[in-house]
Amino acid sequence: MKMSFKVYNTLTDRIEKIEPIKDNIFRIYSCGPTVYNVPHIGNFRSFLFFDLIKRYLSFLGYEVTHVMNITDVDDKIILRCNEENHDLKDLTSHYAKMFIDDSKKLGIEIPDHLPYATDHIPEMIDLIKLLIEKKYAYKTNNGSVFFNINSFGDYGKLSKINMNQLESTKRVSDDDYDKKNPQDFALWKAWKFEDGDIFWNSPWGNGRPGWHIECSAMSIKYLGNEFDIHCGGVDLQFPHHENEIAQSICSTGKKFARTWLHCEHLLVNGAKMSKSLGNFYTLGDLFSKGYSAKAIRYLLTSSHYRQKIDLTDKNLKGAEKTVRRLQEFNRRLLNISKGNIGSIKKTESSILDQFTVSMNNDLNVAEGLAVIFDWVRSINRKLDSDQILVNDAANSLALLHKFDSILCFLDKGELEITPEESSLIREREIARKNKNWSRSDEIRELFRKKGIDLIDTPSGTILKNL
Ligand code: AMP
Ligand code: ZN
Repeated sequence: MKMSFKVYNTLTDRIEKIEPIKDNIFRIYSCGPTVYNVPHIGNFRSFLFFDLIKRYLSFLGYEVTHVMNITDVDDKIILRCNEENHDLKDLTSHYAKMFIDDSKKLGIEIPDHLPYATDHIPEMIDLIKLLIEKKYAYKTNNGSVFFNINSFGDYGKLSKINMNQLESTKRVSDDDYDKKNPQDFALWKAWKFEDGDIFWNSPWGNGRPGWHIECSAMSIKYLGNEFDIHCGGVDLQFPHHENEIAQSICSTGKKFARTWLHCEHLLVNGAKMSKSLGNFYTLGDLFSKGYSAKAIRYLLTSSHYRQKIDLTDKNLKGAEKTVRRLQEFNRRLLNISKGNIGSIKKTESSILDQFTVSMNNDLNVAEGLAVIFDWVRSINRKLDSDQILVNDAANSLALLHKFDSILCFLDKGELEITPEESSLIREREIARKNKNWSRSDEIRELFRKKGIDLIDTPSGTILKNL
């Protein structure tokens, strides 16, 4: 199973089997947030996609080393600092914290390394020096440094960009720095009056690094010249990832990232959710509309990563309903197993195999979920007719929690039933059998005070958040 995990590699334009270059460890780099504003749910679609890959690789038995950069210097950040008189570090650490807090709320595992661009300026300068030495880059009269894209024959291979159309591409022609060829991109940007006191020293004078070089410098520093997976949103394929490849391969002479994975956008009314369009929602916005973190996570990860998702109330409500059904299922099983989680036996393992086949096929989560729901329905039927024994419930829980280790739909709070609570539930069930209604009500009230309702069903007590 483990050896047949296939994904769509943007670089080769093929769905192919992936295995780690070295040992049993997947080394992954993903492009992180630019921290000058609140992160929005669109950003989190990408970050959740990275989290899903990591969790699935761990499920398959691999180790994962994950690096995600924090972009804490660029034109927009400098503009905001100077217009609003902020200290760069104060502003960026405020938004970086927000990004980390929201990530945790969505159940995203924090990367092993979260390097900040401004802590890696010397590494970037070293790379740029190497590129100049090897004649892939040149300095302009005003002290900027550009990468000469004609010096790299494979430029455009990732994004399949038509080089003749490059000049009309906005992001490239936007660059108003003095360069030999309009298609060249900046490695180092010379200080301008508007930059104020935000600059770093370099062999080419004061200035700051271009955006692309930070990802090359930090991925190489933490993962080496060649690593397994590089991922990001589709909007980063060109020019960002194309430029990263050019800089990295030309400076080290090595292959850089082997597999490139890109996830599609989250849309609002058919348009990409983005800060510039102003059509964005933050996690807090969706919380205040009453949606839970689990439902938001579910909506953003349950469709295939190469398909666009529309953020609508209808979709969010649907996700909320599905997640609650799964949580309810968990509660029913927990009640019967008295909080015990068993192990995956033959029956559970065949369901797990079916799920794995779907996920191994380019992370087909939708198909994997269909396997889960068929199984949930069949167990629910048994629960309805009281046909589940304590051990069966415990083993079903083991399977459910295995799925949850990848998809994270369960509310972890409900798993934290203390042994005392579990014995109280048992005591109440006995009290009910003996028609000791006052003790039964007393225990129910104890749980109500903790915000939990106890519901009696033919197959036992169900716990529900009030
Ligand atoms: P930024 O903070 O703008 O640098 O973006 C951080 C990450 O969010 C990048 O990987 C983008 O590709 C991704 N991203 C931005 N908007 C969306 C969106 N609407 N849907 C999915 N990913 C997005
Ligand atoms: Zn990047």
